Amino acid sequence: RLEETAYLDKLSVVGQMAAAIAHEVRNPLTTVRGLIQFLAKDTEDKKLEEFAPLILDELDRTNKIITDYLTLVKPGKPNLKNLNLNVLIHDTLSLLRPYGYLHNTAILFKETGENEQIVADEQHVKQCLINIIKNAIESTEGKEGLITIYKHSISKDSITLAIEDNGKGMSEQELQQIGLPFYTTKTKGTGLGTMIISRLIRDIGGSVRYESRPEKGTKALLSLPLKSS
Ligand code: ADP
Ligand code: MG
Repeated sequence: RLEETAYLDKLSVVGQMAAAIAHEVRNPLTTVRGLIQFLAKDTEDKKLEEFAPLILDELDRTNKIITDYLTLVKPGKPNLKNLNLNVLIHDTLSLLRPYGYLHNTAILFKETGENEQIVADEQHVKQCLINIIKNAIESTEGKEGLITIYKHSISKDSITLAIEDNGKGMSEQELQQIGLPFYTTKTKGTGLGTMIISRLIRDIGGSVRYESRPEKGTKALLSLPLKSS
């Protein structure tokens, strides 16, 4: 997307300083979090007892925004390696299952016997998968969620993974906005997750696109470069 590219170029100019500030803000934040936790432990103070969880929640949210932002502006150079795709997916899913469980959503990986090797930065691909699957999980709010991951198609030099959910889906208009900076339909969203995906995936020569129908669900298609045989 044109506007996205322009935005990223601007970010790289202002980004250095903003990233430094974001980084510095994190330390006092951690201190404050620790102190609130310490004060609220076995306290007699009713107000403190009532509001401490709220304060901690908000601090965690602030920290998450900073983390997302830092990943966006300073993703670090991709460290390209040959990676076993099945192993990578299993590792990522074990991180996300508890989150799925919390949202009453099961995650199914339709593994095939093939052991494809991709060429990518492990952390970057994991981060992309995490962001996609988290969105999928969050889209199933209020119903029994099911996320299916399978190998959608394969060509000479790339493999495409499908991440399908039975969530609330997106209209044509919503689909157009996905990936734009700060676009979110969630009360506690940052609107950075999908932007991070496009940034990280571009760096390793892959791509991502979405198909979606309101009320039916969404399919994210993630293409990754295959190791040349
Ligand atoms: P956030 O998750 O913080 O809202 P993202 O950039 O990850 O930010 O996502 C932006 C928006 O795209 C979401 O708020 C949601 O409206 C939409 N979206 C992304 N993935 C899905 C999905 N699987 N199903 C429905 N909507 C989605
Ligand atoms: Mg998200």
